[in-house]
Amino acid sequence: MTIKGRFAPSPTGRMHLGNIYTALLSWLSVKKQGGSWILRIEDLDPQRSKYEYARQIEDDLAWLGLAWDEGGLDDSGPSAPYSQSRRHDRYEEALCRLLDTGYCYPCRCRRADIMATQAPHQSDGRIIYGGTCRPVGLPVPWNTLADRSTDAAVRLYVPSDIIAFDDLIYGHQEVALDSHCGDFILRRADGAWAYQLAVVVDDAEMGVTEVMRGNDLLLSSAQQIYLYRLLGYEPPRFAHLPLIVNDAGRRLSKRDISLSMAQLRQRYSPPELIGIVARTAGLIPEATPVTPQELIPLFDITRLHATESITASASRASS
Ligand code: GLU
Repeated sequence: MTIKGRFAPSPTGRMHLGNIYTALLSWLSVKKQGGSWILRIEDLDPQRSKYEYARQIEDDLAWLGLAWDEGGLDDSGPSAPYSQSRRHDRYEEALCRLLDTGYCYPCRCRRADIMATQAPHQSDGRIIYGGTCRPVGLPVPWNTLADRSTDAAVRLYVPSDIIAFDDLIYGHQEVALDSHCGDFILRRADGAWAYQLAVVVDDAEMGVTEVMRGNDLLLSSAQQIYLYRLLGYEPPRFAHLPLIVNDAGRRLSKRDISLSMAQLRQRYSPPELIGIVARTAGLIPEATPVTPQELIPLFDITRLHATESITASASRASS
């Protein structure tokens, strides 16, 4: 089996230490196994995604020495295009197959209405859909549903079964989709594709065998496994990484200017910065300058921390 990993940034801003952490570790993991690494641009959101940010991400990865084997803005590789904004026909085709299962239905509920009926503990912004628009007696063939107009969202029914999987870092996971998210959206009312559908179609069609990313997406892997099964694809292996947080314990965002690539590139050389990230991951004891290539023999996925988060420290002299 050809090992394929990927880095799938959303070009909505400059990368920060957390993105570099994910990029470096996913690169190391596939390189250690002799595999190849894909750069996919997740620009599904036309309002927030910018071509210039995607260009900058490429420039930052190249500066760090993290070369991709496939993908990027010039679409090199057999699964082009590698930008989600140009893959609508793939998502459309997958949606048609999902409609054929009889488990999809149109939904006109607005986010605010769903939020209003939510239990107050959903502080993470997750929406658990209660099934207001779900037709009785599913599966129901899509073409027999009365309201199939394209200005409604398309939602997918989830069964009450438990989805179980073994994360390479966080171990065995069991998720009941009906209480985790409920029936979820595949295509929004405005025609935008849902991340869950796009990521599954892309990872499957690009032949990705290992998905390494932040642990904010750990549980949504269960939604993705459900989609893999419905679409008849083999799921990849999942490996989630602790989130890199700032001193206040919050995940890094554009506000953490000092940990943004713009500033990091001014303060450090590529080997210095790779050394800082490698030390954060526990790959080396001190933040000494090192290249990604030199880290390959040191990488061991079983030694990565399965903690909730890691506090960022962009300093060479950290203890
Ligand atoms: N595009 C997502 C992000 O930048 C990553 C999604 C994934 O790795 O599955 O956070």
